Amino acid sequence: MLTILQLPVLNDNYIYLLHDPLSGETAAVDPALAQPVLDELARRNWQLTYIFNTHHHGDHVGGNLELKARTGCQIIGAEADKHRIPGIDRCVNDQDTVQLGQQTAQVIATPGHTSGHIVYYFAAANALFCGDTLFVMGCGRLFDGTIGQLWQSLQTLQTLPATTRIYCAHEYTQNNGRFALTLEPDNVALQEKMADVATLRARQQATVPSTLAQELATNPFLRTDSKALQTAVGLQGGDSLVVFTRLRALKDVF
Ligand SMILES: [Zn+2]
Repeated sequence: MLTILQLPVLNDNYIYLLHDPLSGETAAVDPALAQPVLDELARRNWQLTYIFNTHHHGDHVGGNLELKARTGCQIIGAEADKHRIPGIDRCVNDQDTVQLGQQTAQVIATPGHTSGHIVYYFAAANALFCGDTLFVMGCGRLFDGTIGQLWQSLQTLQTLPATTRIYCAHEYTQNNGRFALTLEPDNVALQEKMADVATLRARQQATVPSTLAQELATNPFLRTDSKALQTAVGLQGGDSLVVFTRLRALKDVF
């Protein structure tokens, strides 16, 4: 079993603490800040073994150096980002594996949001830590990656099992869902999802994780084959990448 804790920090970031009970090893995924991680470690009497970074943005690596100094943890990140991930110790590439005690994560390169973005997929635990590549009902905007890369990365993630839990790095769900509803107002799965999201947010609860199955039913960026969606953006019968490009541009100004 992989224990997964979700720490909400800053305006809308999530840091994940992963713990393998058998070995006692613990990893922090994308620690925006050090102190909330240190506090949680102390509460649980856990030692930090690793930091797993998905990409170099400050709200994902901001706690790296302090955590390393305080815990001696090893920092793992993409080879492509080795010049811009603070304190990086081990560089990984697409299809590499990383261990957390008995738990194995596959590294999948998902450029697009940034050119070096990677995600960590724990197949046995059915959990994907996808940073800013895939969000609940949305996807990351483009910084130094390309739209074609982002498209391909999301295609790759869609090949994972539908039951995969999607642990993204931001609580952007409600805004993403409002955008999705402008495109597919008659999508019943989307309507039901948004009702659930409204209930959760009214209680200030997280809407993350979702599942890949839910994303396939509701996330416009995974639904470029939907006729209703194509019609909504004026590209009926359009090439999927062209539809996707239009969606990303529309969301950028939503
Ligand atoms: Zn980012």
